[in-house]
Amino acid sequence: MLFIMGRIECRQHGVTGMIFTCPHIIQSLRDQEKTERIIRVDFPDISDIEEKYNGDRKLFYCTRCVVEQGFPSENSEMPRDDFSQMYDKGFDPACWDCFTKLYF
Ligand SMILES: [Zn+2]
Ligand SMILES: [Zn+2]
Repeated sequence: MLFIMGRIECRQHGVTGMIFTCPHIIQSLRDQEKTERIIRVDFPDISDIEEKYNGDRKLFYCTRCVVEQGFPSENSEMPRDDFSQMYDKGFDPACWDCFTKLYF
């Protein structure tokens, strides 16, 4: 997948909205097989931080990451200063269309 600020190019959907998920969710999108549960962290306002994070203020991850990374086990909200730190633990851009088709 090609990375374009806030947008990605998906093989199936073309240029679409981008979200950030853990690698296990990205793998599940490839396999078209849901992970058992998805947990979300909201960051109220990250609009003025680094441009590469443009486009979304949420991180999605799975229960495996709760165990392996110590992420919260329920949906939560974090101060925006924690975004980069959490992102760096292994999130990647994913296609919003692929994500919503599989999970919603
Ligand atoms: Zn995960
Ligand atoms: Zn897609």
